[in-house]
Amino acid sequence: MSEQALKELLVEELRDTYSAETQILEALPKMAEAAASPQLKQAFQTHVKETEGQVRRLEQIFKILGAAPEGNTCEATQGLIEEAEELMGEDHPAEVLDVALVMAAQKVEHYEIASYGSLRTLAETCGMGDVARLLDETLEEEKATDARLTALAEGEINPRAFKAA
Ligand code: FE
Ligand code: FE
Ligand code: FE
Repeated sequence: MSEQALKELLVEELRDTYSAETQILEALPKMAEAAASPQLKQAFQTHVKETEGQVRRLEQIFKILGAAPEGNTCEATQGLIEEAEELMGEDHPAEVLDVALVMAAQKVEHYEIASYGSLRTLAETCGMGDVARLLDETLEEEKATDARLTALAEGEINPRAFKAA
């Protein structure tokens, strides 16, 4: 009985993450558009491509599980994207908006890292090694994106905004 309940939880949480990824896929191009730094723009555009692959990877997982991907809206991602849109709507100098965009993007990446990390563990618990491996591939991409954003903030975005201010 608990094995079945755990598998249902896995599907429910995968649907939440599928909803998160599809929302991110819509929001990231707008963030790329809003970014002034060419490196930041490039980082967002690269992650759009990766996110497309992550959506396909989740669809592959749903196929393995014989479940439909839709049906659970991720309210947390909705909120995080609302916050990003709020920042983009404010009257910040371009250099400062870049700092804010990195912060907003890293909040999303951290939510994804938490989601994929615990999903991978749950898939392993359920004895689904193939699903766990696919989730781990995405987890590594999210971690790399987060690290890339930290490096951009430290190396370029924040110092430039500090000097310009
Ligand atoms: Fe993602
Ligand atoms: Fe969620
Ligand atoms: Fe991501």
